[in-house]
Amino acid sequence: MKFGGSSVASAERIKNVADRVKGNGKGHQVVVVCSAMGDVTDELLALCADASKGMEKPVEERLASIRETHLAALTATVSDKAVRRQVLGMLNVTLSQLEKLARGSTVLGELTPRSKDAILACGERLSNPIVMGALIERGMDAVYMTGGEAGIMTDDRFGDATPLMEVTKFQVKEKLAPLLAEGKTPVVTGYIGATQRGDITTLGRGGSDFTGTTIAAAIDADEVWIWSDVDGLMTADPRIVPDARVLREISYEEAGEMAVFGAKALHPRTLEPVAEKGIPVRFRNTFKPEDPGSLVKKNPRLYAKNVVKAVALVKEVAVITVAGASMVGKPGSAARIFEVMGRIGINVLMISQSVSESNISMVVARSSMEKGANALELALLGQGGYRHILTEDDVSAIAIVGGAMRTTMGVASTAFGAISAKRINIKMIASGSSNQNLSLIVAEKDAKDTVRAIHSAFKLDKLNSR
Ligand code: ASP
Ligand code: MG
Repeated sequence: MKFGGSSVASAERIKNVADRVKGNGKGHQVVVVCSAMGDVTDELLALCADASKGMEKPVEERLASIRETHLAALTATVSDKAVRRQVLGMLNVTLSQLEKLARGSTVLGELTPRSKDAILACGERLSNPIVMGALIERGMDAVYMTGGEAGIMTDDRFGDATPLMEVTKFQVKEKLAPLLAEGKTPVVTGYIGATQRGDITTLGRGGSDFTGTTIAAAIDADEVWIWSDVDGLMTADPRIVPDARVLREISYEEAGEMAVFGAKALHPRTLEPVAEKGIPVRFRNTFKPEDPGSLVKKNPRLYAKNVVKAVALVKEVAVITVAGASMVGKPGSAARIFEVMGRIGINVLMISQSVSESNISMVVARSSMEKGANALELALLGQGGYRHILTEDDVSAIAIVGGAMRTTMGVASTAFGAISAKRINIKMIASGSSNQNLSLIVAEKDAKDTVRAIHSAFKLDKLNSR
């Protein structure tokens, strides 16, 4: 069971988590993985920024507030004195390490990626012991450990580390299987691992989901339950489409397409470890213990007639177009463009080039548009072939997702028909050959209407009501 930041955001919620583990976990052996409380990771990031600028006062204020938040949460969560003392001991170790790290970097006015990860990891190292305490108080034999202690070994790309899967699976199983066999409930920090040398690493924002599925693959879990404060994966964002429906079943590939496009902000690699083994993943609402949520599995049958299952909106994107008639018929022109983007570390979300080859458009996060366009100008303009570089930042991306799109005709025409009926112009289209995702770019002001038009064109509001 994995619980996200909002599920452990307060003492009240942590108690609810413990009830879910105890109640819904009855009859199962459970491993618990939790994120940092609420937006503590964001606070730690802000702390890192202040420390690396040598800003002593804000650093001290943030440290005090983080200490205060967790000590108050502990007091309000755990009433048994002995248990509280045990957890307090753990929190104090982490808090004093955090303070040393933060003060050290403040003095230096510098923060290495390695120290930054050690700081970011403190969020999970503070929330999970409290959860452990709540479980012990409910009579469970819970044991706390960090991801590294549980056996998650990663490469040393601090900030976005990847587990070395084979070693990790072996170590995690060695470590956790005996505990489970003894009836214990391991409580493992999400988001963090350790390098071979023992340095703490983080798996990238939202990485606790990935921790959960990695552990599941290692111990051959029957299911992974990802608990949050939403009902499951949905046909659309309910804030945009009020009659969006919960998808009761969906494939790994479809869920993966939704994840990439942030329908629910899933860590992009979440499903890798479990898809391989066919371990089902269930998304559930912590406040609705009876609700089964959404099940991600192999070959779902439930919506066999629904070609399209979800439509997602990706905000804060921008289009960069490289144009020039003499790119035509010149092998290597695309490679040079993407080499530039790769070199400066910009992730390209979507690509399109018409067969005339006279321009190549790509979609990037809006925050990296300027940097990308500048780098492309420096690298390409003035060299034969590339004429100009255009940018558009008032756009949104829309992803239409569905496994059966591969084998069904007419999806594009239905979608485009619905969009043109709203008199909305489509600026760019891309569809990979896996064909489970058709992506569009429209003007930002039209984005929500586009999502609604597609949602109703594919009758997604009627899902589950047959
Ligand atoms: N606490 C980390 C984050 O906010 C990891 C997670 O929540 O999954 O990104
Ligand atoms: Mg979080």
